[in-house]
Amino acid sequence: MADTIFDRIIRKEIPARIEHEDNLCLAFHDVAPQAPVHVLVIPKRPIASLADVAADDQELLGHLIVVATELARKLGLETGYRLVVNCGPDGGQSVDHLHVHLLGGRRLGWPPG
Ligand code: AMP
Repeated sequence: MADTIFDRIIRKEIPARIEHEDNLCLAFHDVAPQAPVHVLVIPKRPIASLADVAADDQELLGHLIVVATELARKLGLETGYRLVVNCGPDGGQSVDHLHVHLLGGRRLGWPPG
């Protein structure tokens, strides 16, 4: 899999506002936030997209979701929030390293564009 900007953030080669780090994942604030809280939770093991997920990724993907919910609590999103995973060109994915968007801090519209 080709190196992405997120691999460089994991290696601390470029700066990011890191909110959480453990042995499986890294969470940092989006550089172009779409809501008052916009954090990305990414696996350290590179998986390009949801289209590349395999059965043995189950635990890792569950971990990303659990971390996102913990961050939502930590960041005060008690009135709600949204988790989004964009997949492929039609899904609006622009970085080919799977990531969970945590969005909150305002009333989010539905359906998404
Ligand atoms: P997606 O469009 O779902 O692939 O989301 C990629 C996200 O990565 C976008 O919301 C970008 O704003 C964000 N992004 C790109 N480069 C950086 C960076 N260096 N630091 C933080 N977020 C970034």
